[in-house]
Amino acid sequence: MTLRPTQDGAASRLLIVGPQGSGKGTQGIRIAEAFGIPAISTGDVFRGAVAAGTELGLQVQAIIAAGDLVSDELTSAVVRDRLAQPDAAHGFLLDGYPRNLAQVRSLDEFLDGRGQELDAVIELDVPRDESIARLSLRATEQGRTDDTEEVIANRLAIYERETSPILDVYRDRGIVDVIDGLGSLDEITDRVIAALEARGMSRPAAA
Ligand code: AMP
Repeated sequence: MTLRPTQDGAASRLLIVGPQGSGKGTQGIRIAEAFGIPAISTGDVFRGAVAAGTELGLQVQAIIAAGDLVSDELTSAVVRDRLAQPDAAHGFLLDGYPRNLAQVRSLDEFLDGRGQELDAVIELDVPRDESIARLSLRATEQGRTDDTEEVIANRLAIYERETSPILDVYRDRGIVDVIDGLGSLDEITDRVIAALEARGMSRPAAA
């Protein structure tokens, strides 16, 4: 198969960014559904691999439990593999990747090679106190091993140190929409959809 640059102006290649507890996972799924594209969460891919006991899972298990970042090489390889699947050919929503500047470069390089680029970056804006409160609640409800107080603090510190700077890169490209992440699930989804539609992205007609 030869790879050609896509000609489809209708493709939506999206990234959702926000601190842990901002609701980006939940909103990512809702937005992806609205635009008819797959939601690709690296955290979910890694957790799935751990649960299934695959080689990838064994490699990342301890790193995730500590709230540290999996290596850029491994993470980027996992994402490239996923983005090469047919369902991502006409758009996708990335959640949790890129998470630092090295990963931004890696994603740029991959998309460039396919004549593609990110169309929009949704920044979910949630105050720190609210993120922490939501994470503590999720810890009780879902029992995630990386939602303990110490690990939460580590993950938020990594977000502020390594992930926030990627937003400056995308802001320079003029593709960031800052969305207020406080309110009901529906309100927040509606805000994101309105921002994306204002960029000219259209949702598939309801079946
Ligand atoms: P998340 O559900 O996005 O918070 O991801 C859960 C965990 O998976 C993170 O704390 C990291 O250990 C790992 N992870 C997810 N995405 C990445 C990434 N882009 N780079 C490195 N590690 C990641």
